[in-house]
Amino acid sequence: MANLRSAIVHDAFRKKAVDVPVPDGEVSRYYAELVFTRDKMRRYLDPETYDVLTKCIDEGESLDLATADKVAAGMKKWALEHGVTHITHWFQPLTDGTAEKHDSLIDYDGKGGVIETFTGKSLVQQEPDASSFPSGGIRATFEARGYTAWDPASPVFIQDDTMCIPTVFVSYTGEALDFKTPLKRALKAVNEAALPICQMFDKSVKHVYSYLGWEQEYFLVDEDLYSARPDLMITGRTLMGHESSKNQQLDDHYFGAIPSRVAAFMKDLETEGFKLGIPLKTRHKEVAPNQFEFAPIYGETNLSNDQNQQIMNVMHKVARKHGFVVLLHEKPFAGVNGSGKHNNWSLGTDTGVSLMAPGKDALGNLQFITFFVNTLYAVQRHNGLLKASIASATNAHRLGANEAPPAIVSAFLGRTMNEVLHKLLESPSGTPIEIAGKKGASVGTIGIPQIFIDNTDRNRTSPFAFTGNRFEYRAVGSSANCAAAMITLNTAVAEQLLDFKVGLDAELVSGKAFEVAVMDTLKPLIASILDTVCFDGNGYSEEWKAEAARRGLDTESVVPKMFLEYEKEDSVKMFTRCGVFSEKELHARNEVKFETYVKKVQIEARVMGRMAVNHIIPAALEYQTKLLQNISLQKELLGDDAAATEISMAREISSLISEIRTRVKDITEARKKANKIEDSYEKALAYSEIANMLPGIRKPIDALEEIVDNAAWPLPKYRELLFIS
Ligand code: ADP
Ligand code: MG
Repeated sequence: MANLRSAIVHDAFRKKAVDVPVPDGEVSRYYAELVFTRDKMRRYLDPETYDVLTKCIDEGESLDLATADKVAAGMKKWALEHGVTHITHWFQPLTDGTAEKHDSLIDYDGKGGVIETFTGKSLVQQEPDASSFPSGGIRATFEARGYTAWDPASPVFIQDDTMCIPTVFVSYTGEALDFKTPLKRALKAVNEAALPICQMFDKSVKHVYSYLGWEQEYFLVDEDLYSARPDLMITGRTLMGHESSKNQQLDDHYFGAIPSRVAAFMKDLETEGFKLGIPLKTRHKEVAPNQFEFAPIYGETNLSNDQNQQIMNVMHKVARKHGFVVLLHEKPFAGVNGSGKHNNWSLGTDTGVSLMAPGKDALGNLQFITFFVNTLYAVQRHNGLLKASIASATNAHRLGANEAPPAIVSAFLGRTMNEVLHKLLESPSGTPIEIAGKKGASVGTIGIPQIFIDNTDRNRTSPFAFTGNRFEYRAVGSSANCAAAMITLNTAVAEQLLDFKVGLDAELVSGKAFEVAVMDTLKPLIASILDTVCFDGNGYSEEWKAEAARRGLDTESVVPKMFLEYEKEDSVKMFTRCGVFSEKELHARNEVKFETYVKKVQIEARVMGRMAVNHIIPAALEYQTKLLQNISLQKELLGDDAAATEISMAREISSLISEIRTRVKDITEARKKANKIEDSYEKALAYSEIANMLPGIRKPIDALEEIVDNAAWPLPKYRELLFIS
């Protein structure tokens, strides 16, 4: 075993970068070549079909079957030119990742052979045998069937030999069984709530879009080392492993030069992403060793989220070509940073105006302040729910563990916006808000300095930070579907905008000028957020926890308890009023969350027990046997007083082994007890206690790693997993 490990390490270290095939020409030549874009629609559909389809896409209308047939015929032609043999409805069930069931295009031709067919019906709707996807009881109680239906707003794309049709996944009775359905509902809600307000500023606005730019963090591990770690393979994280002597303390990884094997992987990944029309923009090393990040140019939230789901799949495939495995787990290694997926979010109009950035003139700034303040107030109202939207068994290792996010959702404004809000509170309503010129703020106006857009004033400890033209929700986990956070955030903002509009209308009815009415409606909100959700200090400090509780912010840190937020009266009211979730859906989805939580912890506890007993203890005993032989030799040759140190080492090993055995027994007992609990919430709660027992087993194991002969240790160590690339 010992030699096997060192052989693996040796080979992994010597691996060279794989040659990456790069398509001919500039990126712009092959960008989106695997996507059925508008350009392809124009080429493969007749003009009338093109018009109907694009109208459906732009206006969210549904497609009639006759047109769908024509669209399918055009798509088939395009797909066959790319060597496609299969199609799939591609959807996002309530599991990690996406689902696809491939159907080949062949059918009997009636003459003894086969032909390729693809009809409008199979484009638009399918009924996958999807009884095994989590539904939280919806399908068991009502109807076993689940349907997938094409979302024309998400373009069809090709992966390998398969044409993928992005779809929603709903039950026979119409309940959402996926992430996309409620996300689309939330995006509709935020448009419908924001639009009337925007139109008060500019009548020509017809649509308000939600934008998302995700930053995907991940680790790379050599695949041979990975395959020697059952915990990584099965749970996605290391359940044990002593810290390496060198970690991230020198900060020498962040933005460092990218090693050639990793660079080749990134290049390959980007090429595949570009072909899929994913506008990848940045790439860099992250804080922890072997941790990296990339981000696209932001886009409309539904599309951008699809692209994130796509690229997460692509990452896994491409990594294997380069002898790596991608870890998307939020905390694969103790003692170094975990991985998140910052969700950069903003709203903007179809006229090209960002609602989260200062405007061109005083009115534009008033519009910005309106959306800015309402967003913060929405976050304040639903801070507990927003935290629940990013909570999971895996993200729990980041929450509250001294890396953004702390287990409290507060918002960072930066000095400029803090000053602006304070000044607005003190000024008479109607004071024009002007972007200050070079000479600074003019008298009687409230200045927003020009440099503000490039403001790099960053507070890394804040989970929800304003960064000049957007908010950055940093608490989202690296393995998560961004939709969970985006559904909650967009719905919360939609609800708040509806309420704001009611307040504003009342002010206007009383005869106030528009600017005055807007400020009078905003002022109580500004006063409230400055006292409550806005916090620019250190989010990791103990004082903040106490202060946040005093301010009435949610400080819950137990994951199953966080999920309860979804079924609280305020949340149910918000989701139902905005048409995003019914109460039944909320309940069903929480059932899924509790179940998933239980299963994840259960798997970890099992793996931990088996590795402790079958890998670690035997290795420790092997080394102890050597020690005992040495002791007996020493005593024989050097006398009874000899080998004192070795004896204490052997004793220490015994005591650590017995600690491991006891704790493994305890956790097994706790599991047995928890498994008998019927209620899914209570069971999840019991499992959160079991999750808390894992570090107790890890500790003696990590202590043994420090004592046992390196050559006898069966698992690749942190220094190997984290420093070979
Ligand atoms: P940083 O690490 O400085 O936060 P990155 O460049 O890594 O920034 O990622 C920022 C992300 O935010 C990108 O995806 C970018 O396109 C996105 N973004 C920029 N402006 C907006 C905006 N107005 N709305 C939404 N996302 C945005
Ligand atoms: Mg960022």
